[in-house]
Amino acid sequence: MIASFLLAVLCAATIASANVETVDFIQKWTEHGVLLAHENSDAHMQSLVPREEAARMLSTIIDFRDEDYGNDAVVFSDVSENSPHYEYVKIVTLTGVMNGVSSDLFGVGQLMTREQAAVVLYRLFASSLDVDSLGSFSDLWQSSVWAGGSISVLAGNGIVHGYTNGNFLPHQAITKLEFITILDRLMPKPAKITVVLPKPGDIPDFDRTDPNPPPVDPYAHLRGQKIIALTFDDGPFGTHTSRVLDELKAKGVKATFFMTGNRALGLPDMLKRVVEEGHQLANHTFSHKLLTSLSADSIRWEVNHNNDLFEEISGVRPTVLRPPFGGVSARVRETVGMPIILWSIDPQDWDGKSEEFIFSHVTSRARDGDIILLHDTVSASIRATGRIIDKLHGEGFVFVTIDEMIAVRGGANDGEVYYSFR
Ligand code: ZN
Repeated sequence: MIASFLLAVLCAATIASANVETVDFIQKWTEHGVLLAHENSDAHMQSLVPREEAARMLSTIIDFRDEDYGNDAVVFSDVSENSPHYEYVKIVTLTGVMNGVSSDLFGVGQLMTREQAAVVLYRLFASSLDVDSLGSFSDLWQSSVWAGGSISVLAGNGIVHGYTNGNFLPHQAITKLEFITILDRLMPKPAKITVVLPKPGDIPDFDRTDPNPPPVDPYAHLRGQKIIALTFDDGPFGTHTSRVLDELKAKGVKATFFMTGNRALGLPDMLKRVVEEGHQLANHTFSHKLLTSLSADSIRWEVNHNNDLFEEISGVRPTVLRPPFGGVSARVRETVGMPIILWSIDPQDWDGKSEEFIFSHVTSRARDGDIILLHDTVSASIRATGRIIDKLHGEGFVFVTIDEMIAVRGGANDGEVYYSFR
């Protein structure tokens, strides 16, 4: 027991010659009454420190005169006049070294955290510290607003060292050994000290910048939402595509356009507009052939040539493919090298369906994670688009692009077929 206790002191206090100094260290603080006589054991020194115990220890080194405080009294409901903690809570709170955890509670029984300890010890010893000498820890930004400055000064003055990984762990409960070690560095010779609280300006600001910020999730606003994707196939087409884009812009909705290269060659500006307005430009092959009837080389050309062309026109390379007619085979899957996006709602708008039919078909089936197939070559679909958006918005749906859907719903693999992302 003694051996591990010595080792612990050695690590925490970085004392070079353990034997004599460690025993002296404990003996010194026991003689002064900060440690109690029975506490010189490993278990006691590794125990955590309730706030009232911190108050007791600190009260033994504060030069306190009752007459200086007149009739001032402790006002916390958890420290009555009959409380065994009353006298030392009075000393630390009337001098301003400790405050309650709220205006009504001192926090009896609550463990003192490492940042609370840093704050109270800084208050007590502020006049002997160089406030321009600031140190830091990689997790200092996690400390409370009222604590970081104190930790920073104590670190800059060599009083707190933190852990070997560069962290201070401000919210972790402090051990008695750690508390006494800090105290010992602040006051190698125990004495009664007169409290001179630091002025507010004596507590420096500290750097609240996280050196290793957690990655920002660009899709956080979509997680937990009911999402749905509008997709338009076979464009760009005449003035139809621009009417769809106008409608989407008016409603503030992003969609995905599966376009073909042979049409893109005639309307390159429409591809640019799709990308500029925040929609997803996706691959519907170069010449809209049924891929299952093609050789692997021809499939590759239909897909890759289209990706190259779209990237050249718009600056953005498509990330997903919709094979014309939904035609997929094992060879198509092995060859395309992109996730294959089909659909879960298809009003077959290309077959002369009315606007009313398209609207009802889509809105009556819509569920979270669905992919709606429309064509920006079909006037009835263009007329139905705004109504579909309004109805589904009213039901709480959020419209997303296919890439957003993939990102929010766990990703997609090349050559795999997706009908929806539930
Ligand atoms: Zn098509």
